[in-house]
Amino acid sequence: TLTDRLSRLVKTMRGQARITESNVQDMLREVRMALLEADVALPVVRDFIARVKEKALGQEVVGSLNPGQVLVSVVHKELAATMGEGVADINLAAQPPAVILMAGLQGAGKTTTTAKLTKHLIDKRKKKVLTVSADVYRPAAIEQLKTVTKQAGGEWFPSEPNQKPRDIALAALDYAKRHFFDVLLVDTAGRLAIDEALMAEIKELHATLNPVETLFVVDAMQGQDAVNTAKAFKEALPLTGVILTKLDGDSRGGAALSVRQITGAPIKFAGVSEKIDGLEVFDADRHAGRVLGMGDIVALVEQVTQSVDLASAQAMAEKLKSGSGFDLNDFLQQIAQMKKMGGLGGLMDKLPQNMMGGKQPGQADMDRAERDMKRMEGILRAMTAKERAQPALLMDGKSKASRKRRIAAGAGVQIQDVNRLLNQFDQMQGMMKKMKGGGLMKMMKRLGG
Ligand code: GDP
Ligand code: MG
Repeated sequence: TLTDRLSRLVKTMRGQARITESNVQDMLREVRMALLEADVALPVVRDFIARVKEKALGQEVVGSLNPGQVLVSVVHKELAATMGEGVADINLAAQPPAVILMAGLQGAGKTTTTAKLTKHLIDKRKKKVLTVSADVYRPAAIEQLKTVTKQAGGEWFPSEPNQKPRDIALAALDYAKRHFFDVLLVDTAGRLAIDEALMAEIKELHATLNPVETLFVVDAMQGQDAVNTAKAFKEALPLTGVILTKLDGDSRGGAALSVRQITGAPIKFAGVSEKIDGLEVFDADRHAGRVLGMGDIVALVEQVTQSVDLASAQAMAEKLKSGSGFDLNDFLQQIAQMKKMGGLGGLMDKLPQNMMGGKQPGQADMDRAERDMKRMEGILRAMTAKERAQPALLMDGKSKASRKRRIAAGAGVQIQDVNRLLNQFDQMQGMMKKMKGGGLMKMMKRLGG
């Protein structure tokens, strides 16, 4: 992962005071490789690297940070900035019914996502929602939408395989108007690949319906191929948003970066399971962590918890699921548990080889990691229990500067060390939220725990 690659470089860059043309070159090569590994398309990678280089060059390397660490933070910020711009919910600012047109290839997840959005709009936005299928090529497609719309609690407008998509759209629109629906969701046909007829049909539907949202649904597992699909749909339609499906799969999520850049449209939601409630607001910052490989760190933490104390792991999973969050007390508890089992050295012995990428780290790495862990524990213990339970006090509270000064003094470290720990915690919390405990349970099962 990018994190691994950079941490290797970080070691060779100790003592260098700033990011320069000569040292940035090596680092950017690693970033490039990592993005390609995450399945980001080449032209997108090139643009991205150029922007990171411009932002990184000349950046002062302050305190105990080194150029590698500074670059990682530049990359993380740029990834998040490229993939998103805050939360973008569905736009319904139109004379009702607000029409939402779903576009994308066959199998991308349009029908499933239509139902997920129906549920979202009913539950979260209290709307009266009608769905209709203009997929007349596969008879089962219309039935599928009927079934999932019912699950979502919405109303389904019947259509027939022998009708023209345009006529279906007009009939549904008329029905929605006469029955005072707030929203009409129009599911469409997809082909296995882009073709002219498909594009002509969806353009005609767009012209007929004048939708307030034209959402491009794309499978995250498509990786680089998502680029060509995104290009074709962008040329055919004025896209207003993207929904990235199947983020629960094995993909490293590079498609998000490509699709965002190529369509210029915000990624509004992510599909995270086949189930009707498997839809989340897309969080660019969290996703940047995923592309950077933060998932590996979470996996490691989970493993520790599993080996040491199954009961508290379960409690933690419950806590995450109930949404009450992972706080600094939990962070401290995890470090304490690691210590109980003989520190990192003991932990490494217990981990399966495949989690280590097949290689054991050297003694020097272990010693450094052990020292870092002790320092983190010191910092966490220098906080008050209230600060640990409410990390926001240290991140955006009014008195955060004086609190951090006090903690740094108490732990005998620099303010930057406190900041670094808070950053790490922030990223970890993002990942934890994303996994909502599901990953933890899966991991425990796999280990027969
Ligand atoms: P469509 O052809 O674009 O309408 O795609 P469908 O909605 O029929 O979905 C195709 C397949 O992908 C189905 O088996 C869905 O259950 C599955 N699917 C859709 N979205 C997701 C998702 O976010 N996660 C997972 N794991 N599967 C999904
Ligand atoms: Mg479908």
